[in-house]
Amino acid sequence: MSAFCDVCVDIAVADTNRAFTYSIPENMRVLEGMRVIVPFGSRKVEGIVLALKDEAQVELSRIKPIIRTLEDYTAILPPLMQLAKEMADKFNCPLAATLRLMVPAQLRKSRVSVKNEKFARLLVSGEDIKKARESQSRAPKRQLLIDLMSDGEEHSLSTLRLLVRSPLLALQKLEEQGIVEIFEKEVFRKPYPAGLVKTEDPILTPGQEEVLSEIIPAINRGQGSFLLHGVTGSGKTEVYIRAVRHALKLGKTAIVLVPEIILTPQIVSWFISRFGDVAAVLHSRLSAGERYDEWRRLRLGDAKVAIGARSAVFAPLQNLGIIIVDEEHEQSYSSESSPAYDAREVALSRCKREGAALLLASATPSILSFAKAGRGDYMLLEMPERVNAKPLPKVHIVDMREELRLGNTGIFSNLLMQKLEECIKKGDQAMLFVNRRGYAPSVVCRSCGERLQCNQCDVAQTYHRSDKQMHCHYCGAVTSVPEKCPSCGSNFLKTCGVGTQKLEEELKRLFPGVTTVRLDNDTTRGKDGHRKQLSVFRSGAAQVMVGTQMIAKGLDFPQVTLVGAVLADLSLNLPDYRAAERTFQLLTQLAGRSGRGDSEGEVIIQSYKPEHYAIKAAATQDFRSFFNQEFSRRRKDLYPPFTIIARILCLADDNIIARKVSGEMFSLLDNKLKEKPLWKKSVLFFREDDAPIKRIMGKHRSQLFIKMVDNKQGEEVIAYLSEISRMEWDCSVQLEVNPATLA
Ligand code: ADP
Ligand code: ZN
Ligand code: ZN
Repeated sequence: MSAFCDVCVDIAVADTNRAFTYSIPENMRVLEGMRVIVPFGSRKVEGIVLALKDEAQVELSRIKPIIRTLEDYTAILPPLMQLAKEMADKFNCPLAATLRLMVPAQLRKSRVSVKNEKFARLLVSGEDIKKARESQSRAPKRQLLIDLMSDGEEHSLSTLRLLVRSPLLALQKLEEQGIVEIFEKEVFRKPYPAGLVKTEDPILTPGQEEVLSEIIPAINRGQGSFLLHGVTGSGKTEVYIRAVRHALKLGKTAIVLVPEIILTPQIVSWFISRFGDVAAVLHSRLSAGERYDEWRRLRLGDAKVAIGARSAVFAPLQNLGIIIVDEEHEQSYSSESSPAYDAREVALSRCKREGAALLLASATPSILSFAKAGRGDYMLLEMPERVNAKPLPKVHIVDMREELRLGNTGIFSNLLMQKLEECIKKGDQAMLFVNRRGYAPSVVCRSCGERLQCNQCDVAQTYHRSDKQMHCHYCGAVTSVPEKCPSCGSNFLKTCGVGTQKLEEELKRLFPGVTTVRLDNDTTRGKDGHRKQLSVFRSGAAQVMVGTQMIAKGLDFPQVTLVGAVLADLSLNLPDYRAAERTFQLLTQLAGRSGRGDSEGEVIIQSYKPEHYAIKAAATQDFRSFFNQEFSRRRKDLYPPFTIIARILCLADDNIIARKVSGEMFSLLDNKLKEKPLWKKSVLFFREDDAPIKRIMGKHRSQLFIKMVDNKQGEEVIAYLSEISRMEWDCSVQLEVNPATLA
């Protein structure tokens, strides 16, 4: 047993790399990765044991002993400890920041505790039960309790309470007489009800068989990374389920990552119904207690499959067999806050270290992953057909400029009107997409052209019909609609553009009596909001679902035969080199919601840029054609994956300060590049300016923007940028490498 250990203290609050040495009292079992309470100055703080040591480098008289351990198991398993160290190195951030990712917030702040529940059990058996029962002839409630517990099992008070009103007093009486024992036991709070119906296993399609014949051997040998490109409706979920089951059969564990937005109760209960109690769920909508308990179930081996959003990649599982990343192209797999890790890369690192297989899957793989597959980093697997050879939906593109020329200024093209009418008449369901929530994305003065803006952010305010107020979608501020134009005083303010509320209103106006449900951030708030909207649609109580990108993802409604993208190209105009990729993914996923049942599906894409290759490729659902065009465009224009884009964002209360800081950074880099000709060769381009959105939540934003070659020198430049960003500046600064958005 070692006598000393290094402890990273206070990981919940401190951003520290420093470890302090403590002594381990005799008879205390301390392991690397355990959480401990240690004296620190005059306080007692929580820490993580980083390493055990036989000797201390510090003077013995200054070393204090550990006060106690918080659990009798290691909170951070050895491979996860290594991962934390690797990430701290890679992101140039304090170890405390990466250790924090490995334990749930609830555990770090000791906000929740283990939950105990009261249980009761009969102490008598056989003939004695009858005697005990007779002895209670004047207390029918006690008799009933004896009957209920006559199986000799433990019964929780909460279940007894369902059958007998207020059973505690009666049980206590029985306990006094030695008939019953009441005791407390640790229980896990479960976010999802047990005892869900078990669904039968379908017979695998040849496509699924083939893909699994590659994945299963990889799980067996504990090695192999795959990218599965399977069209929408090709049955990828069934592949995940079989792969996970195989891992379980080998006594291994599994992680299934699903984007937060589609981690709906529907998907979760579906997984749980196929895996049973061995699945645990980790995501942000769980209560603190539930999250903590799910984490402990995984750590203690009670659960063997972790299903969750991005952060579930750190699930405390041992003997990992496979990590699956569903919808791998989703932006939400990259973390926006520091350390800005990419869950797919973390998954790869874990799989390599822990001897597991990796499966990334999507109907629209990211350009990056598909390029990696082309390079041989992943083995490419394909499922080009839908289950049961169901055809992919037929897609029509409507040129909205032509509609205008024909005098149609409405939201719906003639074709979409006609198809909606047919769909509604037939009693089928439809989905309509527009990528803005609210009523109108902007309010403009017809006299001077002024657009109403949030006074905290440099973005247009959205008009919401439900509360008749102006909303800012960046900071959430809500203000009333001014009577007059704040700029010229005219009365000619008018709403422009289409949001989900307006789309729904127009639909109801054009199709009187049609039932609708709206799915956007406004209607899905709260723990149950999402589920409620979905079940309204599933039950058929609403015939048309109107929504934002939320409706594009993962939903499986067999009655939907028509999908309409009302304004397909809004996302093409974003200040982002991935705008085309995003638009293609969104439209292809959206189209994939149509025709999943027995009837064939149709899709209508309304666009002002119908000739754009992202729109054309989405219409034919031709991923390869899109990939080829996008890949050569990126090569030509020097965008990732051929280059690295980085920026340091400066945020200040004052634009002058923000620009001063970014300007000074520019000079630093400029001078450095003069000293380092090799670096200079790798830097293709750099500039300093205002960020595309100049102000968010009152903070002025400026940036140092750099594009460089993806090579060793490029990485050295990034390390230098990270050094710059950690210097003392007059405002807060953030380094972003290939950021998810360039706003
Ligand atoms: P994807 O995720 O690839 O879009 P899903 O996994 O949602 O596709 O599968 C599409 C539909 O096909 C689902 O309703 C699913 O239950 C069904 N399905 C999947 N595999 C099979 C199979 N082998 N036999 C019959 N139906 C299947
Ligand atoms: Zn005006
Ligand atoms: Zn705002």
